[in-house]
Amino acid sequence: MIPVICVSKSKLQLEFRWSSLLTALKIRSAYTAYPTLDDQSLTAWCAESAKSLGLIELSCKIKVYWNPRMRTTAGRAWWPDRKIELNPKLKEYNPDEVWRTLKHELAHLVAYERNGRRRIDPHGIEWQTACEDLGIPGERPYHNLPFKRRKLKRKHAYVCSNCATEIKRVRPIKRPVACYDCCRKFNNGAYHDRFRLVQEKRSN
Ligand SMILES: [Zn+2]
Ligand SMILES: [Zn+2]
Repeated sequence: MIPVICVSKSKLQLEFRWSSLLTALKIRSAYTAYPTLDDQSLTAWCAESAKSLGLIELSCKIKVYWNPRMRTTAGRAWWPDRKIELNPKLKEYNPDEVWRTLKHELAHLVAYERNGRRRIDPHGIEWQTACEDLGIPGERPYHNLPFKRRKLKRKHAYVCSNCATEIKRVRPIKRPVACYDCCRKFNNGAYHDRFRLVQEKRSN
């Protein structure tokens, strides 16, 4: 197999590894360019990618899981656990979505691995660089897949005693809660009883 493109000699091009991985695992997939989407092959791909980037510990420890309990999140990355969780709903979409999400999450682990315990912005420059290294330059922080949210009725209505903004909640408010906007505008963001939300009296 021939590598697809080489951006530059210093930039590691990972795309072509899929084909070699395919050959190595002898996987027959409906999507010729992609291995079967079980956690073992995804883990193997991530391990190989981490190794290519010189991140040996990440390569040894990384694990990819499908988490059926995930609702609207497409994927999650855990560090230092070096674990990636993917939402099985991704399989209902184009397989590109699985790979994009996997790379998005792997980029988080790559960024943390490179920066150790130093605090970094989750979708900051370190992550963006890792995305480029993994072949998804310009990746956005959030997905826009139409995962269905559980629709809950917000039947408890409250109103700010100062600005009359209406706030609806699924569950009744038990502790004193104040209007966020008013607290920010008039009280430096701190709670003040003057902006407390009061239960709305409905006339109908
Ligand atoms: Zn992210
Ligand atoms: Zn208010």
